Amino acid sequence: MGVLRKTKNLEEVLETFRHSRQALSANMLLEQLSEGINKSTVYRLLDRLEDDGVIHSFLAANHTKFYALCQSCTSDKHVHSHPHFQCLSCNQVVCLEEEFKLPSINDMNILEAEVFLKGYCASCQF
Ligand SMILES: [Zn+2]
Ligand SMILES: [Zn+2]
Ligand SMILES: [Zn+2]
Repeated sequence: MGVLRKTKNLEEVLETFRHSRQALSANMLLEQLSEGINKSTVYRLLDRLEDDGVIHSFLAANHTKFYALCQSCTSDKHVHSHPHFQCLSCNQVVCLEEEFKLPSINDMNILEAEVFLKGYCASCQF
């Protein structure tokens, strides 16, 4: 984890991500952390973790920023080609395992895509 200095707050944020099967917004994270960690601390920790290649962020519905753990990113570079999904019913946001195949369009050199998918998760379909 590079130069990241471990603090109690940081450990708690990381644990929350590890135990969550969903991506989390800063507000969702705050609700799960112990009292006494304020919002600006949470934002600072999230920034640091993202800089260090530990978590990545993306925008979900309503331009809400969500964060999720990275698999194999480093502080030098984030490498992602997975789509994100938000359930229209329960609103949960998850990283999908599938690689998203970049389209080749004419003579353009497409390097990355941010794919955001919406629909119904397994427990919301009936
Ligand atoms: Zn990453
Ligand atoms: Zn759902
Ligand atoms: Zn993701």
